[in-house]
Amino acid sequence: MFDLPSDLERLRVIELYLRIQLKAVEERISKAEQAREQAEREAEKERKRQAELVGWWLEHIRAAVPTNILHKAGCPMAGKRYHRLNESEAKEARSMHEVKVCQFCQAAKGL
Ligand SMILES: [Zn+2]
Repeated sequence: MFDLPSDLERLRVIELYLRIQLKAVEERISKAEQAREQAEREAEKERKRQAELVGWWLEHIRAAVPTNILHKAGCPMAGKRYHRLNESEAKEARSMHEVKVCQFCQAAKGL
């Protein structure tokens, strides 16, 4: 620690200076923590998005004649109403005659 003056006036000036410095450091820490939290939220969102793109989707289309279409996960032709399937479930779904296979993503490839 540096030598401090002994008089009250200069000690008060140093105290004020240090308070200002401390506040600046605290603000910088707060910003850094917010940036880290934002980066973690974005990374988690990306992990979830990537997890969605693994496997297959079984899309269910409600209509007079309901239709089920098997897609590779992430197929842009799939609607929003689907169930995620693993490989064995996708194989089983492919073998069902009421399930159509998307030709756009060639969902049957690799099954
Ligand atoms: Zn598809």
